[in-house]
Amino acid sequence: MTSICLIIGDPVSHSLSPRMHNAAYRAVGLESAFVYGAARVTTAQLPDAIAAIRTLGIRGVSVTMPHKEAVITHLDSIDPSAEELGAVNTIVNERGVLTGYNTDWYGIAKPLAQAIGADFWRGCADAPSTEPLNALILGAGGAARAAAFALRSLNIPFSVTARTDDRARDVAIRFGGSTLSWDARDTASANIVINTTPIGMQSKETTPEAAQDERYSPQSPLPHRQWHPRNIAFETIYAPPETPFIVAARAGGASVILGGQMLLWQGVRQFELFTEREAPIESMRGSVEKR
Ligand code: NAP
Repeated sequence: MTSICLIIGDPVSHSLSPRMHNAAYRAVGLESAFVYGAARVTTAQLPDAIAAIRTLGIRGVSVTMPHKEAVITHLDSIDPSAEELGAVNTIVNERGVLTGYNTDWYGIAKPLAQAIGADFWRGCADAPSTEPLNALILGAGGAARAAAFALRSLNIPFSVTARTDDRARDVAIRFGGSTLSWDARDTASANIVINTTPIGMQSKETTPEAAQDERYSPQSPLPHRQWHPRNIAFETIYAPPETPFIVAARAGGASVILGGQMLLWQGVRQFELFTEREAPIESMRGSVEKR
């Protein structure tokens, strides 16, 4: 019997997850055993969608906006990291028992750990190997919480800055960071910056409202920052592949980590949870990069 996996959210038509997971199934010869699709589920439809997962025996579900928090009350158990993050992006169905996980934080921690290990001092022969790492998180929503959790797991001190101070304070207190005012963000000395705001994402709409929406502005959320070769810029947005934040960081000589990397590594962990097999990382990477 074929196991069915799905991504649910609203919208989902833009999602690269079906392509990435189906490519992974093919790469390990599981294409007859697993298939991955996408289902648009509105907020009002969420309880029925969860009931359908149980009734139809859907094996695994990726959860995206706007359901990552609301889905929690519908599940039978929650993994400790998802519990602490207050967000579920992965559901595994084990004979009708639904368990919620969060793999978004791993999608940040894994490429960041690789970059620190391999790339951080690239081209910096004069860099003191003892320069302490410290990070700045832009934004204070779900992806910011995942970033804070990831930084804490890597023992990297961090500040949070967001246009809504109270939300920044909440993330900082919850995960042991400090806060910085949004107006002072360009002056931060952090050598790692993680953008979790949607500023710089691509609009599929051509309406006058979309033209006015600052999330789609061709500006970096750090418009005046002086980037250096000993900096890392981590973007969570994956469409477009290179945002103004990334373009500016590259121009200043910084190392960059693209949103596609986060997508890849959170998906790698999901693949392993759904199939209980080792993920074919290079096939998954190829499917994300080829677009
Ligand atoms: P969220 O919970 O809505 O949080 C967004 C944050 O950005 C909030 O702090 C919000 O501030 C701030 N913000 C929104 N518009 C802003 C603006 N114009 N100026 C300044 N701040 C602004 O969203 P999320 O779930 O964290 O997602 C954030 C981003 O992460 C999205 O672009 C999403 O695509 C990306 N993401 C990527 C992956 C991946 O696999 N690559 C996975 C998850 C998320 P307020 O609180 O004041 O509204």
